[in-house]
Amino acid sequence: MTADIIDGKAFAANLRAKVAAMVPAFREKAGRAPGLAVVLVGEDPASQVYVRNKHKTTVEAGMESFEHRLPADTTQDALTALVEQLNADPAVDGILVQLPLPKQIDESAVLATIDPDKDVDGFHVVNVGRLSTGMHGYVPCTPLGCVMLLKDRLGDLSGKDAVVIGRSNIVGKPMAQLLLAENCTVTVAHSRTAHLPEVVRRADIVVAAVGRPEMVKADWIKPGATVIDVGINRVPGAEPGKTKLVGDVDFAEAVEVAGAITPVPGGVGPMTIAVLLRNTLVAAHRLADVPYDEKAI
Ligand code: NAD
Repeated sequence: MTADIIDGKAFAANLRAKVAAMVPAFREKAGRAPGLAVVLVGEDPASQVYVRNKHKTTVEAGMESFEHRLPADTTQDALTALVEQLNADPAVDGILVQLPLPKQIDESAVLATIDPDKDVDGFHVVNVGRLSTGMHGYVPCTPLGCVMLLKDRLGDLSGKDAVVIGRSNIVGKPMAQLLLAENCTVTVAHSRTAHLPEVVRRADIVVAAVGRPEMVKADWIKPGATVIDVGINRVPGAEPGKTKLVGDVDFAEAVEVAGAITPVPGGVGPMTIAVLLRNTLVAAHRLADVPYDEKAI
């Protein structure tokens, strides 16, 4: 059996198009476009690429993009002052501070400064609490994207056995909460989990968010399971001096056992920005008090 390939790139393009289609009606009712502010501190090359892509896709969706680039030696106070200014700015619906931040900055203190109602990344403790208690808030973009792909593939997730490998605040923990909210039976595995292959083999749904290239092997996977590979790992490519991206799952093996699987690249990766736009659209409606069916997208 060869698994179906879950096309995250196509799903994300469709999601971005749905968001863009809803912007004109918001603009008409609110008298302004939804606005996303992205703050980049320093010159990390990967972060620069992410921020550039966020700006481009935000503008393409018809939204306002506010980019703030600060030098690597920015102080905590200067960054806090900028976040507070964005909190108070009525043109800004979503605030994203690109991580990682330089060493002199206390990351959690910065995230705590963001107004939870503009925290479209869902990292503020208030939104973490809202997610775990089933209240309306903002959910981190990557795990929410994974759940969208899973529901599109499987429909109702109730009663499924799900194993999430990884327990980070950004992916693993919110992923587990979201699957629990979908009535899955959830196991969170991590670096200290005993007998990991056996644990994973129980799962109807496997979400790998580890950051270890091709760690999950075919014989860890229950035949027919749905496999969501969040990992993005750069490894040496076939030609000398070249690199390539691989996931946390050994795709070439796993594709022969799973029922469906996300590729890397082209699976979960493109979902993150698309969900960020979706979260910004939701935030704009809530802040401008424009009615909106949150189940629409
Ligand atoms: P992290 O390093 O914060 O967390 C990794 C988790 O994996 C930890 O909880 C750890 O307990 C677990 N782990 C480590 N080694 C393990 C092992 N041998 N067995 C079992 N568990 C182990 O990483 P993260 O931020 O959660 O990211 C995970 C991966 O997802 C990375 O490859 C990252 O690049 C990728 N990622 C992708 C996106 C996206 O697609 N947009 C977004 C965020 C993260």
